[in-house]
Amino acid sequence: RFPPLARSRDDGILLSHRIASTSTAEEPVLYQVNAIPPQLPPGTVTWAEVDLDAIAANVRSFCRFVGPHVQVIAVVKANAYGHGAVPVAQAALRGGATRLAVHRLLEGVELRQAGVQAPILVMGYIPPDGADEVVRWGLTPTVTTTEFAQALSARAVAAEVTVPVHVKVDTGMGRFGLMPEEALPFIQALVSLPAIRLEGLFTHFCTADSADPSYMRIQFRRFMDVLEGLNGAGIAVPLRHTCNSAATMRFPEAHLDAVRPGIAIYGLDPSSEWPPIFPLRPAMTLKSRVVRVRTVPAGWGIGYGRTYVPNRPTRVALLPVGYGDGYHRILSNRGAVLLHGQPAPILGRVSMDQIVVDVSHIPQVQEGDVAVVFGRQGEAELRAEEVAAWAETINYEVTTSILPRVVRIY
Ligand SMILES: *Cc1c(COP(=O)(O)O)cnc(C)c1O
Repeated sequence: RFPPLARSRDDGILLSHRIASTSTAEEPVLYQVNAIPPQLPPGTVTWAEVDLDAIAANVRSFCRFVGPHVQVIAVVKANAYGHGAVPVAQAALRGGATRLAVHRLLEGVELRQAGVQAPILVMGYIPPDGADEVVRWGLTPTVTTTEFAQALSARAVAAEVTVPVHVKVDTGMGRFGLMPEEALPFIQALVSLPAIRLEGLFTHFCTADSADPSYMRIQFRRFMDVLEGLNGAGIAVPLRHTCNSAATMRFPEAHLDAVRPGIAIYGLDPSSEWPPIFPLRPAMTLKSRVVRVRTVPAGWGIGYGRTYVPNRPTRVALLPVGYGDGYHRILSNRGAVLLHGQPAPILGRVSMDQIVVDVSHIPQVQEGDVAVVFGRQGEAELRAEEVAAWAETINYEVTTSILPRVVRIY
């Protein structure tokens, strides 16, 4: 995973490295390990590069996998899992998604204000006072309360529009949505309201990433039972959807009319228990520049609390990335970054703004070098999944945690 690198050329900050190719290609791979992207604002020291072609390609893979009769709803909630909602939404639509989904009303408004015109499903709870914004911005709300349904209907009548709505059913996650037995009476009342059109019905699986599909099947059966009840009452549902990334890959019988992939469109693994069913391209690389290199003497503490004290002189590099950027403090004395394609372990605590890494074994490191906090560096790769394991969390949280201070470039 971390091939050794041979230095070939040194032109200041922009260093090129020719590495012995491990592939069978005739030409060795040449890459700019320390390249600074030209669109980076001057003075930037820590940034995330987001590969929108990777996002479009991942969405395209989903479209191919589900076939032409199933829509792909790209989930871009939480600032597109930290990648940046607007550019990701546009890339996902370019890749073949026909719709977008967010969790909150204001996330939908942000996309509309940026000119995104595709249908946007707001999957989370909206209070009655949000009805006005739903109508104004042409969003597709999830309706689970009578109060909101009535407020929405009133606003839609006033605006002389019909609002498409989706209803969420809790089939066993115990979180959001109507209980299965509540769904039919609720929907019967809903469709009798003026200016409301039932467009979709959905549920969410709580164990789709598990190797054991049995509970997912139970949830799906409950969902199909609700649909059968609606059908018996003469209520048609054009858009039935249940699958997140993991379920889309593992449970094709549940694709129905649309799927809702999130994590996998960012190129991240939807499960830690099984590999992705088709190849994914990670979209985000988090980078930070080495701003200081020093050899600290034995006995010199590193970071708050002096939790790491080297017992011999140690060459260390300082990187301006910390928990104030969303790089978790639990990575103190645990995590590593890539420098010149090699892992440089974190020494001492992760501060709000900075970390110190051990570069004793990477003598070519110098000030101005670019570290990869996660992502690829030439042929070396440090995946968000590995950072997640060190941080005792999931890959979702690694990218979603990246805070606005980190400049995103596309
Ligand atoms: C977040 C979310 C998704 C996407 O899930 P992934 O595991 O990221 O693919 C789908 N549906 C709902 C309701 C969600 O909240």
